[in-house]
Amino acid sequence: MRLLFSLLLIVLVASCSTKNTNNAPTPMTGKYAIAIHGGAGNLVKMNLTPQEQEAYKLVLDSALTAGDEILRAGGSAIDAVESAIKIMEDCPLFNAGRGSVFTHEGYNEMDAAIMDGSNLECGAVAGVRHIKNPISAARSVMEKSEFILLKSEGAEAFATEQGIEIADSSYFFTQHRWDQLQEAIEDDKTELDHSGKKSASKPDHREEKYGTVGCVALDKNGNLAAGTSTGGLTNKRYGRIGDSPLIGSGTYADNSTCAVSCTGKGEDFIRLNVAHDIASMIRYQNTTLQSACDSVIMGKLKSIKGRGGCIAIDNQGKIAMPFTTSGMFRGCIDAEGKKQILLYAEEPTSVNP
Ligand code: ASP
Repeated sequence: MRLLFSLLLIVLVASCSTKNTNNAPTPMTGKYAIAIHGGAGNLVKMNLTPQEQEAYKLVLDSALTAGDEILRAGGSAIDAVESAIKIMEDCPLFNAGRGSVFTHEGYNEMDAAIMDGSNLECGAVAGVRHIKNPISAARSVMEKSEFILLKSEGAEAFATEQGIEIADSSYFFTQHRWDQLQEAIEDDKTELDHSGKKSASKPDHREEKYGTVGCVALDKNGNLAAGTSTGGLTNKRYGRIGDSPLIGSGTYADNSTCAVSCTGKGEDFIRLNVAHDIASMIRYQNTTLQSACDSVIMGKLKSIKGRGGCIAIDNQGKIAMPFTTSGMFRGCIDAEGKKQILLYAEEPTSVNP
């Protein structure tokens, strides 16, 4: 009798360990897939030389490959997400980590978040100026602290304690971003002068491109993860924080629904709580990933004139990458192993609807 009871107990404990915190069974399909983005915005072919387009594609490719290799070897979705994002953070082409845009006062203030869909654990940092890879700091907050979102000096002090790499301000300086800031500041003056010169002669770089980076992944154990990292908006001020580090707005992952990373004008994504709304549509309306993404991004976001898009993956490895802008740098390797790297809108926005 006692033996039977012990056996029952073992079976019960084993079955609990394959469930996530929502009590929904984690579907272990053995499939794995990954998607990344490098920002959305007013991206048209003629604004980039073929060499520039190639350069973006090369970095997207190496980020995808790094994540894919981890997943193929049986690694976790959270490791794949962190490693893909670090590659984009280290590249000055993207508005995250090294290539972050400048605030009005001339600082680089970065935000990042990461979420593990297997247990709804998450971590984020906001307004950090000296952390080389904010996504790793966010992960450290998730794994090593009792908190979820740390900001500014406090986040940097915590990251330092955890041995996260700190970088001098000069590491984040890029001439291109500095020039963008000067134009944005100048445009503000023009705007205040009501001369109307801005739209006629100059593009508004603050609106032109949101070069945030993000990654979503499904691993062989059926676990989903999402991460987002950004320098925010050029010329932002007053400690402005966008959607990227806000769990549910720019970043969300839950094994029972999907993982989402957003890019675009953060205020619109915060208003609609975009990432969580997509997951909620799947949970409560039992819709497909593609139709949840279409409804939230192409429906709700567009209806408030929201600019941007998202990458999303469900627990079967289906991927959606919708956006309302003319382009979104994006790539994926789907559950069949098919790779796509795309920059503009005329190309397909989903790979396996
Ligand atoms: N969503 C980011 C923010 O508002 C910007 C971006 O996606 O590029 O801070």
